[in-house]
Amino acid sequence: MVRAMLEERALRERLLSQAAGLAAGCRKCEIGAQRRNNVYGEGDPCASLMVIGEGPGETEDLLGRPFVGRAGQLLDKMLAAIGFAREDVYICNTVKCRPTVPGPRGPKNRAPDPLEMANCRPFLDEQIDIIRPRIILALGAPAAKSFLGRDFQITKMRGRWYEGPAGIPLMVTFHPAYVLRQTGGELTAVKRMVWADLKAVRTKIDEVLEPPAKTPEQASLF
Ligand code: SF4
Repeated sequence: MVRAMLEERALRERLLSQAAGLAAGCRKCEIGAQRRNNVYGEGDPCASLMVIGEGPGETEDLLGRPFVGRAGQLLDKMLAAIGFAREDVYICNTVKCRPTVPGPRGPKNRAPDPLEMANCRPFLDEQIDIIRPRIILALGAPAAKSFLGRDFQITKMRGRWYEGPAGIPLMVTFHPAYVLRQTGGELTAVKRMVWADLKAVRTKIDEVLEPPAKTPEQASLF
């Protein structure tokens, strides 16, 4: 049993590494030629929870790793609040290259456009297929729209369960970068909604896993 699990893990690691190699050579979109690093994804190849954001930002592009800037630090806290270490989950984005627009002090982040998301979708689908998570958590409207269509409105439609790719239960919550931009009462309200969504993820994970892992202990995230 243990041997079979180790072999399965090694197989998935190999498949993900091969796919990451292909993504690293991909120049299908214009942003593929502008990136410093391809940001394929990282984490446990046998993760029960897969976290999917919209696209790499400046720090991610620099380091070639997903969610490593300020938003990434907040994501780590969000995951810890429901009992997951970063390395327990698999983290990636809908696009593997940093989408940018010109700014006065160099390129600025932007959301990926529909063509970029469509171009990159085979890489994402392959990751989902290899990892086969039990739950997907989409962060932010662009990631949600890539699964649920352009009409998805995050303020009205987050916090519910949807049927995601391959029938995997999908939850949508606000992107940590969005949370970081809020202040005052808005920040309090957004934190409350994110916490409710995360608790729903924890509950669903506990339903599908045996034995249940840790339960949320804290009433506030950050
Ligand atoms: S975003 Fe995806 S499809 Fe587009 S160039 Fe980068 S790796 Fe290729």
